[in-house]
Order: sequence, then C-alpha cells, then structure tokens
Amino acid sequence: MTQYPHLLAPLTLGAITLRNRVLMGSMHTNLEETGDWGRVAAFYAARARGGVGLIVTGGMAPNREGGVFPGASGLHGGKDIENHRRVTDAVHAEGGRIAMQILHAGRYAYGKDCVSASAIKSPISPFVPRELDEEGIEKQIADIATAAARARAAGYDGVEVMGSEGYFLNQFLVRHTNHRTDHWGGAYENRMRLPVEVVRRVRAALGPEAILIYRISLIDLIPSGSTWDEVVQLARAVEAAGASVLNTGIGWHEARVPTIATSVPRAAFAHLTARLRPEVSIPVITSNRINTPEVAEALLADGQADMVSMARPFLADPDFVAKAAAGRASEIAPCIACNQACLDHTFAGKLTTCLVNPRACHETELIYAPAAAPKRIAVVGAGPAGLMSAMVAAGRGHSVTLFDRAAEVGGQLNLAKQVPGKEEFHGLVDWFRAEVARLGITTWLGQTADVRDLQGFDEVIVATGVAPRDPGIPGQERALSYIDVLRGAPVGKRVAVIGAGGIGFDVAEFLVAGGHSPTVAPDLWRREWGVGDPATSPGGLADPAPEPPARAVWLLQRKPEKPGRGLGKTTGWIHRAALAAKRVKMLGGCSYDRISEEGLWITRDGQPELIPADTVVLCAGQLPERGLADRLAAAGIAAHVIGGADVAAELDAKRAINQGARLAASL
Ligand code: NAP
Ligand code: SF4
Repeated sequence: MTQYPHLLAPLTLGAITLRNRVLMGSMHTNLEETGDWGRVAAFYAARARGGVGLIVTGGMAPNREGGVFPGASGLHGGKDIENHRRVTDAVHAEGGRIAMQILHAGRYAYGKDCVSASAIKSPISPFVPRELDEEGIEKQIADIATAAARARAAGYDGVEVMGSEGYFLNQFLVRHTNHRTDHWGGAYENRMRLPVEVVRRVRAALGPEAILIYRISLIDLIPSGSTWDEVVQLARAVEAAGASVLNTGIGWHEARVPTIATSVPRAAFAHLTARLRPEVSIPVITSNRINTPEVAEALLADGQADMVSMARPFLADPDFVAKAAAGRASEIAPCIACNQACLDHTFAGKLTTCLVNPRACHETELIYAPAAAPKRIAVVGAGPAGLMSAMVAAGRGHSVTLFDRAAEVGGQLNLAKQVPGKEEFHGLVDWFRAEVARLGITTWLGQTADVRDLQGFDEVIVATGVAPRDPGIPGQERALSYIDVLRGAPVGKRVAVIGAGGIGFDVAEFLVAGGHSPTVAPDLWRREWGVGDPATSPGGLADPAPEPPARAVWLLQRKPEKPGRGLGKTTGWIHRAALAAKRVKMLGGCSYDRISEEGLWITRDGQPELIPADTVVLCAGQLPERGLADRLAAAGIAAHVIGGADVAAELDAKRAINQGARLAASL
C-alpha cells in the first residue's frame, strides 16, 4: 500500500487519463534557446521516465510581440514543429504526457514591440506597451489559436494557456492595467472577454480530445487586482469555453509579495484553490511552494485540489514521483526554493540548472557513469562540496570514506538552517545524511583527518571549506562571529552587523526575528507581507503589519552603495524588504574605526559616528581553509581541492555542489 494514494491515483481529463496527479509546472529553462533539441528532449524525457503524470513545457511565445524577450522560443511552424516533435516523442516513449504552455507576455515582453490592453508601463520593464486596437486583439487571439493547432501537430497532448502571473491575458482582466472603454474594457464581462475568447478559439483549434489547461490567477497581489467574485466568474466562463482543467497562479511578477521564495510557507496559497474547487466542475490544480510528496498528498487528501503542480522540484529530482511511488521518498533530492541556479539563471539569460542537482538541463553532458575501475577515495569535509563529491563517487561504485571534524554532516548548511526563512535547509541536510548512509559511504565524523589518515587512498578530495575573514578592527575581541550567533550565543538588544553579504543579511534576519519564523507560521507570514483575502480586498492586498523587531539592528558595509546589491536577482529584494520592515538600518560607505564599550565607532561621509550597539557581529566574508591541502602537498600527496577551500570568495552551495559533482563524475 502506497503512502501517497491520492497523489498516485489516475486523473482523467477529457479523453486522456493521466497516470497520477502530479503536474510538472512550466519553467523557462533557456534550453530551447540553445537550439539543441536533443538536449531539450533528454531533459523532458528524464522527467517522464521519473513518473510525473503531466509535463507542461516552458512558455512558448505565440508571436514575436508576445515573447518574454526578443528571440524567445515559440512554435512557429515548419522546422520548429519537427523540433518540438522530438520532445513529445521522447516523453511519450517514456509513458509520459506533455502539454505546451502558450505564453503571451503582453507588457512583460522585454522589447519595444510589446502590446497590452492599455499603454501602461509595468514597473519591472522599461518598455511602454502599445495599446491594441480591435484588429490587433484579433491578431493576438488568432496567433494563440494557431500556436495551439501547431502544438497538436507537434504531438503535444494539449496546451496550457497562461492567464496568470500578470501576463497578457491577466492584463486585460484588471483595471490596474486595462483602462479601455470599448467592449474589451470597463465592466468585468468586457475585461474577461479576451481570456474567454482565447480559450474558446484554442479549444476549437485543438479539437475536443486534447487537454486544455487554463492557468488562472487566484490572487493578483497588486493594487486594483481581481476580486474573488471575478475569479470565480472567470473560472466558470473558462470552463464553459472549453478548458479541461484549471491550473492556478499566484501573484503578478511585479507584486511586492514573495510567492515562491524559500521564505514563503509551504503550500501558502493552497487554501485559495480549495475555495475555487467547489465553484467549478472541472478539476483544479494547486501550486506554489509544494516540494514534498507528503505535502502534496495531504493537500489532495484534504480535498483542497484535484492535482498538484510542482515545478522546481523536478529540476532537483527528475525521479520525484518514481521514488515516492517506490516508498523511497527519503531519496528525493529536495528543492530548497533558493532560485539560485534556476530563476536567477533564467533572468540572467543563463541556462537553468539546480543547486542540488547540477545535472538538471545538463543531462546529456554531465553523466554519472559506473566507474571502470573502483578506487578508494577519501573526502575531507562534509559540507556541500564534500558531500556531493562523496555521493556521486560512491554512486559510481567507488569506495568512499568521508571525514569531518564536526559530529554532523552538512558543514555551513547547519548554520544556514538556523536562519528564519531557511527551514528548507533542514530537508537538504537530512537528504545528504540519508544518501550518505544509503550509498554505503564510510564516515569518520567528529574527528580531524590529517595527512597520515589520508595515506593509501587512490584519490583525496579536500573540501575543508572556509574560515571567517579577520577584518582587523581594533577592539574586535569584544565582537562575536556569525558562527557564534547562529549557534545561539547571547546577543544584546542593539546589534551592529559588520558585512552585508549573504551571511550579514541572514544574521540580521535571525536577530530581528527573535526566534519566530513567519515561514512556519503562515498567518504571521501573511500579516508581515500584507497578504489579505481577495474576497474582501481586490487583488488580495492588505496593509503589511510586521511584528516589531526583536532587536535594533544596523547592517553595515564599506562599499559606498546600498547593501544587498550582490544578493540573488530574484530574492535580493525580498531580503532587503524583510529587513526594511523590521527597521534595520542598512548603511554603505562605512569604515570601521574601533569597537569599544560604547559600541562601534565608524566613519561615514568623512564624519566619525558611534553606533550604540551592545553587540557587534562579524560577517566580513571568508577565506579558504587550506591548511590540510598545504600539508598534503608538502607530504607529496596529490589532492583535489574543491568548494570554499578552493575559492572562498565565491563560497556558495551552488558552486560547491556543482564542482563536487563534476570532479566525482570524472574520477
Ligand atoms: P560575502 O557575500 O562575500 O560578503 C562579505 C561581506 O563582508 C561584504 O559585505 C563585504 O563588504 C564585507 N567585507 C569584506 N571584507 C571585509 C573586511 N576586511 N572588513 C570588513 N568587512 C569586509 O560573504 P558572506 O556574507 O560571508 O557570504 C558568503 C557566501 O555565502 C556568499 O557569497 C553567498 O554565496 C553565500 N550565502 C548566500 C546567501 C544567500 O542569501 N543567497 C546567504 C548566505 C550565504 P564590504 O567589502 O563592502 O565591506
Ligand atoms: Fe529548487 Fe534551488 Fe534547485 Fe531552483 S536551484 S530547483 S530553487 S533547489
């Protein structure tokens, strides 16, 4: 008997029966843009082989003006149909089903030819869209319908019409972006005319048997967004127009409320899917911050949805469903919702991959083949780099011994998991621990390995990580390091944090939260971010009401710029906003003069200043911990140095895991 009977139950959508209720949600990976369709096919085929019920592709532009960026991939007929056919054939060969998402970006299209309901610029784009006339609207509808017909010709089982996240169709729905006075604007019947007409025409283009998913925005999280009554009215109209199933979207891209970041509580918005479900007769799919089979199963068992969409978890582990079905859920590599290797890459125009799974989108190039000749491999350091290298090497058949002076695996991840909003790191460390045991890796924890312990191995991997940089500030013996603080050292009510990198921000969040993480208290989280109820406030926005900070915190850096510029592209704003809400004073251009009983003395704009802190915390970056590497070299033992021990300046888990995996794949 499976632990996930609801998740693994089949679901019939019109003429097609899916093997389970797991949808791999749409993600733009930039893979199509490489032009290597063999690689695109391998990516999706791996997910189909891993058992997912239905895949939705990344958004495909129906025309030039609707592409998210100039040259965004689409399905433009001719050779394109052959390319897409390689993908659908590969997925079908694995017993999977796949729908193509049709994504018209409207005013979010990053180009001067963008179009929308009204000529109103989005705050996240420099381009003012052109207001479409009647003929222009008809062209967009026709292009979307043509894309649907081509999708069928390319072998897709259906399409998803992207109607949420503030894209083109969503822009017609709300007064915020639709100021029209013709029959496409004004009353809601007019504003919803476009999405309903699109669904009607797409259904006609697809024929009766194909799956038509409509992605509906349940809560826009923008001013003058849709009311709940309007959401329900649209859902019913879209059903009547021919949709087979409703997928749900949360928040526009320009919303100032995080919706998928790691600090968002798990399944934070599923209650809205539950509220929609009884209003329609077609199935509804829930989404956002669902990353384990347990959470997904519970949502279905509670009747909150008919199907669960997960997107990033399928980057982290293509075999998510197969492992859950086989009772091996502890082996699922967890998506920690960090965005570091997926969305941050996508928005930087780089190929998507995954922090915990460097093979994502690199399936044809990074291969973990069985080792031709098993070797004895020593790995020193059980942080992300060492763990990943040990796991890949052991998975390939090598005999691996893992050393760490700490009693626990995880390295700096064990500090990160103490930070409010980073609870997902617990799951990541748990996964590493379980995999180390499953793969039969010999562990020597709680012991310092030195040169003589490492003699006799065929390969030695040094992943000893980093040591905090000494900033050399007079009086710093009075200060604490971030390690002390995250391990629970007592801290005063007024705190100066020296260094505003990733760790400085983390420590500031830890200090102002005072032990209460909104991520595990969804009501508190909604109050902090101003998430209301779309039934009482259009768009679901409320006034944010953050709890008072547990401490007064100053976050300082020497660079004469706003702190936080180096944080992740898609998450940096969340960290800055979270600290601003807790009245953290973020100061750039500081030089540190001394630490005394009165606090931290700095000079800023040429003026001396006292920060009256009871505690000063040092988060001034890292240096490689290379002592062992140097001693091995002196003893004539060749070693591979990876992770922070190699390059501390770029210390991050994404780079460490990738480097560890690639090294181990080559041994
Ligand atoms: P970091 O990001 O390199 O930041 C170091 C901070 O220390 C900077 O603010 C730097 O700013 C300051 N600093 C450098 N030298 C200094 C000196 N001699 N005296 C005083 N201040 C000095 O390093 P980190 O914060 O330790 O984080 C390490 C890595 O962990 C990050 O790069 C990141 O990859 C990862 N991480 C990421 C996150 C995340 O949110 N994604 C969170 C935690 C950790 P100034 O030079 O301007 O003073
Ligand atoms: Fe999840 Fe981070 Fe991987 Fe993206 S990079 S899929 S958010 S673990």
